Amino acid sequence: MTGVADDDVDSGTDVEVGNDFDSDDEFEDSDDSLPETELPADAEPLTCPYCGFDLPEETQYRLHLGLEHYGRLDEAEQEGFKESYRSENDALDRFRIIALGGLVLLYFGFLVVYALLAA
Ligand SMILES: [Zn+2]
Repeated sequence: MTGVADDDVDSGTDVEVGNDFDSDDEFEDSDDSLPETELPADAEPLTCPYCGFDLPEETQYRLHLGLEHYGRLDEAEQEGFKESYRSENDALDRFRIIALGGLVLLYFGFLVVYALLAA
């Protein structure tokens, strides 16, 4: 229903505005492909200048810019993205090692419990 309503609005205003509105149209299309998110009422989100997506933290903002709009970024922003990406990757590696260690401990814990109860 809302898609039909949006189309009606687009066709109505297209005649009046022209090229400027076409670029807004692209932003609306990219908004549709983004996941729906909710921010707390007291949060001050950082808004993406290219697609209007709200992000709660600086790190997530830089990651979004790099992943979605890398070609449009200047050198400093690209460097910020790479730095954020590396630190995110390191954090993921740490999580994987800790998760694997937890699974190994759980496995051998159950094995020891089984060995004690079966004896
Ligand atoms: Zn964006």
